[in-house]
Amino acid sequence: MSFAKPFFGGNWKMNHGPSAARRFVEEFVALYEPHDDRTVVFFPPAISLAEFRAAAGARDDLQAGLQDVFWEVSGAYTGSISAGMGRDAGAGFALAGHSERRHVFADSDEDISRKVGAIVAEGLTPVLCVGEKLEERERGEVESVVTRQLEAGLSRLSREQVEGIVIAYEPVWAIGTGRTASPEDADRVHEVIRALLGEQVGETSGRAIPILYGGSVKAGNIEELLAAPEIDGVLVGGASLDPSEFALICNAGGR
Ligand code: PEP
Repeated sequence: MSFAKPFFGGNWKMNHGPSAARRFVEEFVALYEPHDDRTVVFFPPAISLAEFRAAAGARDDLQAGLQDVFWEVSGAYTGSISAGMGRDAGAGFALAGHSERRHVFADSDEDISRKVGAIVAEGLTPVLCVGEKLEERERGEVESVVTRQLEAGLSRLSREQVEGIVIAYEPVWAIGTGRTASPEDADRVHEVIRALLGEQVGETSGRAIPILYGGSVKAGNIEELLAAPEIDGVLVGGASLDPSEFALICNAGGR
């Protein structure tokens, strides 16, 4: 781990409406005590954000983020949510470029760069997700795909703004499939990302940008992933839906 404070993100995707979100938080707070040596951020569906915050009450160590935003501030964009609306509802973070946005909803690199720009403009921290599909890995394109996605995602940010972001490397073939990249494989791609960040902001500042791994993370593999030198935390989908499993994950990596 190169980053001082491990980051644990829970992406609920289209799961846990407001009542389920409240039940989750009530169970989770009993299993996870506040720790000042780690960051825990939940990405509930936007409709559950207010209930999540209300249920968390004084537990402001449990932070929240949006799963996606539209880049406009407001207007006639039915079904969309802006970063500013998320901030108003208690979000401090927002995902951009999650693989389901890229591959189910056809978000392009250009869309994602606009979203990252809008997230930063509203004072939220973007978690920019990058990662190759299986066929791209098999064609030996991991580095070129991740480089293209990263450079596009950061293209609207100043050097200072790049210093404030979080990156998540999520190989598409490992998301929701039960197939996890080995810590060594993930670490190698994280090194590529680290070098690219270093080119943009200098080596020292690049080292301080958290690079998370995502793809079938669970309680059974969290310790080995966190032990990899370039993995600064995790973005968890399926295993973040269960309070006991996610509490085990967030309690891992104690030093
Ligand atoms: C994700 O959605 O970001 C993810 C990594 O999902 P899962 O943990 O289910 O593979």
